[in-house]
Amino acid sequence: MRNDPIVEEIRRIRREHSDRFGADLRAICDDLRRQERESSREFVASPPRRAKIATVAATPAADERIATEFPKRCGKCGQKAMRLATLPYATTIEHEGCSYRVRIPSLTVPQCGHCQAISIDDEADREISAAFRRCARLLTPDEIRQGRERLGMNEQQFASLLGVGEATLLRWETGAQIQQRAMDRFLRLCLRSPTAVQLLLSDFQPSARST
Ligand SMILES: [Zn+2]
Repeated sequence: MRNDPIVEEIRRIRREHSDRFGADLRAICDDLRRQERESSREFVASPPRRAKIATVAATPAADERIATEFPKRCGKCGQKAMRLATLPYATTIEHEGCSYRVRIPSLTVPQCGHCQAISIDDEADREISAAFRRCARLLTPDEIRQGRERLGMNEQQFASLLGVGEATLLRWETGAQIQQRAMDRFLRLCLRSPTAVQLLLSDFQPSARST
């Protein structure tokens, strides 16, 4: 494709045409329109493409979210006018005695077209939770899961290594629960240091050996 002679020829013609007008876009377009008018050939034009305003793509996932994941009726004004909108969002989250101001430049969230009230659904909640973790510098659910997988451990093995319940680890990995900071630091230590993992696997595990 790079050395296509037809493409090369078109580029050469375009360059020569552009050079005749000193690369002045307005002059180039005026001349092309003049050629179009004076030619007897038929020209085909596509309709102008409009810029999308709210970036809520009509993907199957978005359609499914609209259809199933939140009620159509606004909880505030009662109008049946809820639809997905993308907007800037900010909130304050308290965690272990600290307040974190969490800002999301573009959050996709159900919003009432009538009174503009928003309703945080599961998907938006996950996004806010992820933004909070970034803000508070805590590992994300994906980082925890991927780190565990790199260690070659299943949920049960990793939970046992950390000394937490498997259900707790699952909640961290799915984002249903945010780990305490002390746990986050412990997780980081285990995910980064094979020595720490080896220590936990040997010395600190209850052993059947007796001396
Ligand atoms: Zn409303």
